[in-house]
Amino acid sequence: MMSELLLGLSLGVLAILFLIYQQRNSTKKQAVRFTSLASERSNFENLLAEAQKREAALSVILESMTEGVIAVNRGKKVVLLNSGAERIFGVSKKMFLNRNLIEIVRNTRIDEMVSQAIQNRSRLAGEISIAFPKTQVLSANAIGISMDQQDISGILIVRDVTDIKRLEHVRQDFVANVSHELKTPLTSIKGFIETLLEGALRDRERSESFLKMMDEDASRLERLINDLLELSQIESREITLKLEAVDIGLEIEKIVLGFQNQIKKKRLTVHNHIMKTAIPQIKADRDKMKQIFINLIDNAIKFNRDDGSLSIKAQKLNGSLIEISIEDTGIGISKNNIPRIFERFYRVDKARSRELGGTGLGLSIAKHLAEVHGGKISCESNFGKSSQFTVVLPIFKT
Ligand code: ADP
Repeated sequence: MMSELLLGLSLGVLAILFLIYQQRNSTKKQAVRFTSLASERSNFENLLAEAQKREAALSVILESMTEGVIAVNRGKKVVLLNSGAERIFGVSKKMFLNRNLIEIVRNTRIDEMVSQAIQNRSRLAGEISIAFPKTQVLSANAIGISMDQQDISGILIVRDVTDIKRLEHVRQDFVANVSHELKTPLTSIKGFIETLLEGALRDRERSESFLKMMDEDASRLERLINDLLELSQIESREITLKLEAVDIGLEIEKIVLGFQNQIKKKRLTVHNHIMKTAIPQIKADRDKMKQIFINLIDNAIKFNRDDGSLSIKAQKLNGSLIEISIEDTGIGISKNNIPRIFERFYRVDKARSRELGGTGLGLSIAKHLAEVHGGKISCESNFGKSSQFTVVLPIFKT
């Protein structure tokens, strides 16, 4: 009986021990599981933080790009749009997410480019002019994504190249204009030489008049080349200004004296009011500054009528600038021509300008020279009656 009791007790103890062992074991296992869960969680948190960091960096890059970037899904609905795209297409992110691409770009060529890129999973590039929100030339790249990545099937990257294109045109026009301007007097000189060689040389009177015309053409070529050199020097910012205090009234008086023959020929009256005005000295490179007024006064004489006049005035604009104006009583300039006369080689009447010995570069040079002095030049005109050119230059301060 006693032994049965002992056996029963031992079995009970064993059972309890077994239960304790099991419990311990499972707690241990649970503890191991908890530890691994905790480390998984921390791993996950690290990954998440890493991904968030990467996303933030990508978003900073995307937002600081000057290019416009638009990502679309397979149905060409916008899923991402950066500030570059907002700026170029004049839209706002909030309003245009999930809208059709065409509503943003408002250009069928761009829309088709993206469609094709998505369809063929290819990359297409092109230069496209758009009219909205303003006229711009865009360099566009459409990229089809090979496998739909997070609902992105295509990406459009656009860059505004309007200014580059405009400069390219200006350069091309300039080269064409220079070639033409140089060719005209050169063709004429060659023509005279041929005629002289064919026999005119023996006719003293004729050959003398030919030589005079050749001399005029050669002078014209010289003027052109000098003006071109001057212009390219100013534009390349290679000139160094020797800035000093300049008495503008006195300098203009000297310039007018240099034009006495032309003034007399047209019986013009010149009123240099600056001489009677108390005006501070200007801060300028004397020779360069003189070039501005030589070009303006030359024009004011050339395009004046006989018995006309020239009025030259100056006034202080504020503590640091002076405005000098030259008004003539000439043919005037129509409103639509005024913004263009400062362009290189632009002349309202080409034949007339050439006849008067002009190169079409005078105002362009004057404008650049005023600008390198930190000033500016402008024009107002009463068409058929008068023109007034105004130059703003800095005051010399001690
Ligand atoms: P140009 O060598 O022909 O004088 P500019 O660059 O000096 O070249 O001037 C460009 C054009 O602007 C001239 O051809 C002329 O048509 C116009 N222009 C300039 N100044 C005057 C003026 N004072 N009155 C009328 N037209 C002018």
